[in-house]
Parts: sequence; C-alpha cells; structure tokens
Amino acid sequence: MAKIIDGKKISAEIKEELKEQVAQLKKAGVEGTLAVIQVGADPASSVYVRNKKKACEYIGLHSKSFELPEETTQKELLDLIEQLNQDAAVNGILVQLPVPAHIEEKTIINAISPLKDVDGFHPQSVGSLTIGQPGFVSCTPAGIVELLKRSKVELDGKNCVIVGRSNIVGKPMALLMLRENATVTVTHSHTKNLKEICSAADILIVAIGKKEFITGEYIKEGAVVIDVGIHRDENNKLSGDVKYDEAEPKASMITPVPGGVGPMTIAMLMRNCVEAMVTV
Ligand code: NDP
Repeated sequence: MAKIIDGKKISAEIKEELKEQVAQLKKAGVEGTLAVIQVGADPASSVYVRNKKKACEYIGLHSKSFELPEETTQKELLDLIEQLNQDAAVNGILVQLPVPAHIEEKTIINAISPLKDVDGFHPQSVGSLTIGQPGFVSCTPAGIVELLKRSKVELDGKNCVIVGRSNIVGKPMALLMLRENATVTVTHSHTKNLKEICSAADILIVAIGKKEFITGEYIKEGAVVIDVGIHRDENNKLSGDVKYDEAEPKASMITPVPGGVGPMTIAMLMRNCVEAMVTV
C-alpha cells in the first residue's frame, strides 16, 4: 500500500512558515502586496483568484484586486500592467490565465516585470531557471519538488519520467528535477512506447491533461507517483491524470487528487510573493 503524499498538510506547513517570515519582514518595515488581475468572469478563474487572495490574507500580505470586464482591450491591460510595474508598493503581479481570446497571452506574460513575475512565466524567469540563475519558478513544478523533498523522497540519481511538456508544468519540472540531479526523461504526444518508458520510472510525474490516462500498467512496483491532473466531472467530483485505484497498490508513494499537487501551487505562489518582497 502506498504512502499518501499529503499536499494539504505540507502546503499548510509552508504557509505557516511564510506567515512567520512575513511577520518578521513587517517588523523590519517591509510590507508585501500582490496585484491580481482577472479579465472576464470565468467561474473557475474567479475561484482561483479568490483562493489566491485568501492565501495572501492568511500569510499577511496585502492583495490588490483588478476585476476587468471581458471586453477590456489588450492595450488597456498592458497599461495597467505597466502602471503596476512602476508601483513601488506592489511586489508581485499576477494575471489570471486564460485571458479572453482577443488578448495575446504571450504579450501579457512578457509585459510583467521579471522582478514581479510571481507566476514565473516570463521568458527571463524561464531562462534563469534553465541556466541555474536565481529567478521565480513556475509554482506547480516548484510545489512538486517541495512535496518530494518534504516527503523525504531521494531524487539524486533517480530515474524521473515526466509525462507532458507544457511551459507551465512539464518543461520547468524537467529543469527542476535536473537541478536535483535526477536522470530526466520528458515524454509528450509524439513519444513512442510511453508505457514502457513510464514503467521504468522511479519517480513518475504526470501532467498529460487526460483523465485517468495512466493506468497501473504504466507504473513500476515501488515507484513514486505524482499526479498533476485536475478533472471535474458533472457531479463536481475531482480526479487526476492517473487511475488512482490501479496506481496506488503498485506505488510506494502517491499524491491524491484532490489534496496532492493542487494545494501546493498556491503555497508556492505565496513563497514567490515573499521572495519578491526581499528582491524588489
Ligand atoms: P497541457 O495540455 O498544456 O499539456 C499536456 C501535455 O501532455 C502536452 O505536452 C502533450 O504533448 C502531452 N500529451 C498529450 N497527450 C499525450 C499522450 N497521449 N501521450 C503522451 N503525452 C501526451 O497541460 P498542462 O501541463 O497545462 O496541465 C496538465 C494537467 O495538469 C491538466 O489536467 C491541468 O488541469 C493540470 N494542472 C494542474 C495544476 C495544479 O495546480 N494541480 C496546475 C497546472 C495544470 P504535446 O506537447 O506533444 O501536445
């Protein structure tokens, strides 16, 4: 039976540590503010934005909320970002994605100052991660490394297979696992023999975006399985990219959905915000 990696508990521990750090910074006269911009009223995005603001409040950061109408132009959004880039009282800027189709996501990401890029999506942040320089790291992959480390999973020299190569999960995940001295294989939709490759993994990280795609056959006996996927069915029940009932008996450790990777993303966003307080 696999040990469950409890992302809820680990993220709560991290938020406690950050709360303490923010209190210390406040004593030294340093305040932190995260600006959160949402364009349109997509219900899922509204939930994420609300949770991010709540997390700020919990650890003692201010949040500044900008809820813009769906018809906001790209120019208006870019002007707001520029204003926030210049605002010394704002340490972090986050534009909730996706933005409406008439706005180019890439242009928006590139407009945020790398010093305030708490999502870690700016090309400069990604470049710094690639060559091992300091910079903000994308929150979900950073959260996975934290989950593994705090669960005492040995990473050095381990065979790590990542399913998915997106800019926000798969690619930064590969770079982070390389930094931890794992031997990394990145797979994607053109990969041949996916099952064979996955079943050689000591650590299998799945971000494929397909509900319960990874069955027991993909998993080596004793592997550590990290499920990034989030899928909500018509009854609001959540499931992941991994078929949990089949994976759990084979794995030595596994993240559940919900309660695994999900809560870590916000905890890492908060960590980036605290980092922004001391670097800006
Ligand atoms: P994307 O859709 O951007 O990427 C999916 C990746 O999976 C792509 O690289 C794609 O390959 C690859 N892929 C698709 N089909 C196959 C296949 N048959 N075999 C091998 N690889 C395949 O997804 P994201 O990375 O953004 O997200 C992945 C999942 O994680 C989603 O369920 C998402 O909801 C969830 N998520 C959860 C977060 C959290 O906080 N827990 C945060 C972010 C995402 P190719 O590049 O060739 O198209």
